[in-house]
Amino acid sequence: MRRINPGSVNSYIRYGNLKIPKSIQSECPGCRSTTEFMLNANYQSSKNGLVTESSCPVCKKSAVFIIMTKDVLDEQGEHADTYIYDTQASRHLINQIESLPNIPKDLIRAYRSAINVHQSRENPATAVMSKRVIESILKHFLKEKSKGQPLSQQLEILPNHVDLARPIQSLSHLLVTDGSLHRMLELETEMDYETTSLLMDLLESLIEYLFVLPGKIEVTHNKIAKKFQ
Ligand SMILES: [Zn+2]
Repeated sequence: MRRINPGSVNSYIRYGNLKIPKSIQSECPGCRSTTEFMLNANYQSSKNGLVTESSCPVCKKSAVFIIMTKDVLDEQGEHADTYIYDTQASRHLINQIESLPNIPKDLIRAYRSAINVHQSRENPATAVMSKRVIESILKHFLKEKSKGQPLSQQLEILPNHVDLARPIQSLSHLLVTDGSLHRMLELETEMDYETTSLLMDLLESLIEYLFVLPGKIEVTHNKIAKKFQ
């Protein structure tokens, strides 16, 4: 199950007092394309929610959506929380990183093993594989400098060896005044659907990089610190 971000709901319809999604932009659990699902209005309803389906425009496989009509918690109290049935959701990151060009193969292998042993609750093996993942990340960036150094020291100097500013700075030329994208944002020229989709990807990545990831690291750090105090 994967929660549908309300920002990914393209349109709603009324269902009693609620607004429920009519079309949703989401990654297809079958083919992994990001596409628009038009939800079938033929709902199966229960006390807590509705179940419906939609077929993927790309692979034609049917995806299942669960709309929670009970305990609606958003501010206006009218938008129902919606989920897509996606058995691969928890393994999502590993699927994403495998397609990236610059990630070391031994890191992917170690991370995959860590996920597997954690899922089968092999705690000592999870500890071993997690250490290997951390070492592999550090070695990738620090190269020779990682040799013989404690992990804490390596993490301390890691930011000197990774250009954390580059992904942000590389965007600046895209938004240059009078550039194609800037003119589209100013509505001087029209933007097609493909470009708007890329733009949405860009917004998501920016927010993740600047807010979500630092926030997640801090929350996890605090939980671990609290556990050992
Ligand atoms: Zn599909």
